[in-house]
Amino acid sequence: MAIATINPATGELLKTFEPLNDIEIAQKLDLAQQAFEKYHKTSFQERSVWMQKAAEILEQEKADFAKMMTLEMGKPLKAAIAEVEKCALVCRYYAEHAAEFLADTSVKTDASQSFIKYQPLGIILAVMPWNFPFWQVFRFVGPALMAGNVGLLKHASNVPQCALAIEEIIQKAGFPQGVFQTLLIGASKVADLMSDERVKAATLTGSEPAGASLAAAAGKQIKKTVLELGGSDPFIVLESADLETAVATATTARMLNNGQSCIAAKRFIVVETIADKFEKLLLEKFQALKVGNPMESETDLGPLATPDILKEIDQQVQAGVKSGAKVLTGGHPLSDRPGNFYPPTILTDISPENPVAQEEFFGPVAMLFRVPDIDAAIKIANATPFGLGASAWTTNSQECDRLIEEIEAGSVFINGMVKSDPRLPFGGIKRSGYGRELSIQGIHEFVNVKTVWVK
Ligand code: NAP
Repeated sequence: MAIATINPATGELLKTFEPLNDIEIAQKLDLAQQAFEKYHKTSFQERSVWMQKAAEILEQEKADFAKMMTLEMGKPLKAAIAEVEKCALVCRYYAEHAAEFLADTSVKTDASQSFIKYQPLGIILAVMPWNFPFWQVFRFVGPALMAGNVGLLKHASNVPQCALAIEEIIQKAGFPQGVFQTLLIGASKVADLMSDERVKAATLTGSEPAGASLAAAAGKQIKKTVLELGGSDPFIVLESADLETAVATATTARMLNNGQSCIAAKRFIVVETIADKFEKLLLEKFQALKVGNPMESETDLGPLATPDILKEIDQQVQAGVKSGAKVLTGGHPLSDRPGNFYPPTILTDISPENPVAQEEFFGPVAMLFRVPDIDAAIKIANATPFGLGASAWTTNSQECDRLIEEIEAGSVFINGMVKSDPRLPFGGIKRSGYGRELSIQGIHEFVNVKTVWVK
């Protein structure tokens, strides 16, 4: 894939970038290693000052960064602004809490003194996707750099300007040179990087094939990875739910980021008694959404990020229909305009045998399932290879307990939309990946948990 900025709303090629050659990659690795040797000796207090400064830069220049994201991957500008603000939040969160999260922890044993010490590992490689071009990177940068590691970023090839802007923010914030560098490289260079002795671990957010490929390369070298992969989150609505709020949230949860979020609600599982009403209200909401130029403030749904994603969504919907699904609204790319536009779409009558029931729709397509009761709802919710997030709606406390206990996912949100929050761990099970980002768990992923025993 060429490293380039192509406006997804128009299809216009705006800028291309030459990938780094092997000599340049080697130089960046040398610099990262030299940086680590000094940086890991800096204090939490020093790192915290730089991290707070990064937050300030993000806030001061959020309008420019947001425009850059919208230009490169098409998310509505208002969502891009919110994304930059959230990046500032995660920087501040780790600036304030890293010292406490990584403080020596005393443990009583037969030693005169025994404790757990947390130490940085060295160079961590971050392979990141385009869908949240700033947020995905900053939720790595916050904990990794505060822990004393240094970072190398291999960002998605369609967001190079964002990738370079993030490197600049870290430099301007005052972090020592080489602590965080962007590598403009293709995916084929990742395995080589993993085999470099100085790269100690990696985190990847993206598709299953990319995750499997990185994990295989890391496995060969006995190096740790964290994988945040795809999801097909269920959104269960039971009879006692506040239906109006559930439908409004369902619409936001499906359409966020033009439908391209790993934790978007993708399968709407509704009990039969309220299904007609839910379907009618959801249809109204979807049809009222404004699809258009993501730079305009009234736009709800912008284009998909690339022509390939548009093609894939189209093929998936057609395959689903061929296997018996019905299209309630949408169902075809918008061919009346340039760019990668796909309309809000609802699929119903999806049998368990329909292949799309097991798949992730990375675009604005909702699958609607009707079920007789909570047992069937939980069964369908768990009947995918994924286990990222889940949202469920009920005011019955017994149902609530069962949903929390029985849903197979990295998170369960009751009467709310699945979202990431610096204070809460984020990640999945099953084929959605392993490891956790954010919270105290996120900063513990890339440290040596050293046991110390002294007599
Ligand atoms: P992708 O193709 O896997 O790309 C993600 C990153 O991996 C890019 O930087 C890409 O580089 C790189 N990459 C691709 N193939 C690779 C390989 N074989 N080895 C090493 N690196 C490789 O993902 P996508 O299709 O753009 O993103 C959508 C997927 O990401 C969805 O499944 C979504 O659910 C998932 N996602 C998960 C989370 C989460 O937190 N769980 C968050 C966001 C997205 P190039 O761009 O150069 O190909």
